[in-house]
Amino acid sequence: MANPADIALEKAAQLEPLGDDDAYALLQVPAGDLDVLCEVAGKMRDAFHGRTLTYSPKVFLPVTNLCRDRCTYCTFRRDPEEAGEWTMAPGEIADWSRRARAVGCIEALMCLGDKPEIAFRGFRSFLAELGVASTAAYVALACRLSLAEGLLPHTNAGLLSKRDMAMLRPLNASMGLMLENVSARLRDRGMPHQHAPDKDPVRRLRMIREAGELRIPFTSGILVGIGENEAERVASLLALRRMHAEYGHIQEIIVQNFRAKECTAMADSAELTDQEMVRTVALARLVLGGEMNLQAPPNLSPDALGYLVRAGINDWGGVSPLSIDYVNPEAAWPAVERLRALCEQEGYGLEARLPIYDAFVTERFVDPMMLAAIAALRAGPRTGQRAAVHDPRKGAVA
Ligand code: SF4
Repeated sequence: MANPADIALEKAAQLEPLGDDDAYALLQVPAGDLDVLCEVAGKMRDAFHGRTLTYSPKVFLPVTNLCRDRCTYCTFRRDPEEAGEWTMAPGEIADWSRRARAVGCIEALMCLGDKPEIAFRGFRSFLAELGVASTAAYVALACRLSLAEGLLPHTNAGLLSKRDMAMLRPLNASMGLMLENVSARLRDRGMPHQHAPDKDPVRRLRMIREAGELRIPFTSGILVGIGENEAERVASLLALRRMHAEYGHIQEIIVQNFRAKECTAMADSAELTDQEMVRTVALARLVLGGEMNLQAPPNLSPDALGYLVRAGINDWGGVSPLSIDYVNPEAAWPAVERLRALCEQEGYGLEARLPIYDAFVTERFVDPMMLAAIAALRAGPRTGQRAAVHDPRKGAVA
């Protein structure tokens, strides 16, 4: 009699949805059988997404790197007056948006630390001087500035209240929050989220649920390699799957691998091997099903890109011709031409996409004003030009 893992794989091969038990049974597939997982996952992707992969030409706007949390792997966050502290002024946001549009970017990724106004008096004064009441209100201003330059904002501002999300909804093509992992264990003493109250999985799931209630096209995902085990990865994927089954609002799921950074408490922690990352992506495809958009960042696994394609991704996420990845500043995005050549080697095309997937461009998910902005961009060319990569604080860096 076939074992549960084989039964689950057979169901997946027949494009049948997997139950929770099937999802956990897949963990019994031996690590050495990567090609078996990839074969089924790749076919599943092909059945729903065909032979074209996508990416989003974006500019990463780190609205502020002040953050009240202290995740032990993070080099993005700063304290006030710490070297590298940076809150983008409105003029910088407009300037960078203008330059981004000029080189073909479409997405303005508003990415920032969590709740700096709660932790830092100086940041509260900064907001007061601008006449905005909260960090979320400042993000709304940033979104307006980017929209005025012809970009489509996608905000990932950490944990937001339902009220703040409702305020930001008309100004964003989509929004996001990584679930990271459902395991409360990661907040225990000595674990990476011990000093990160906003990484409480219950609160993060609540925000993802509220985004569904608000009909916001939503990006989420898992962060892998921060001390979770494989069963906890599956539990996290299942939690996102359930949320999407209820509200239909999750437009894509990212599998993002932890990268160890110097000068952090996790500098010596083991990163996932490429094989482990590929296995996680393939498992995600099988658990989430063929239809979900599944993404892996190409700059975080530069030596495994072909294998990630075979493992069932259909999207590379945001790739910038202009700005660095401020969360992983050591990991340069590949040039789009290189990514395209790589996809072609694997037998796939590569197309630019908007920060909202086409299936979500409906009156149900998008406000009328945003629908008009999306229509204007859909009518134009989507491909970006290659420009010098800049760190706005330092000038050209590559
Ligand atoms: S990972 Fe995000 S929430 Fe955690 S410290 Fe860094 S900026 Fe803050």
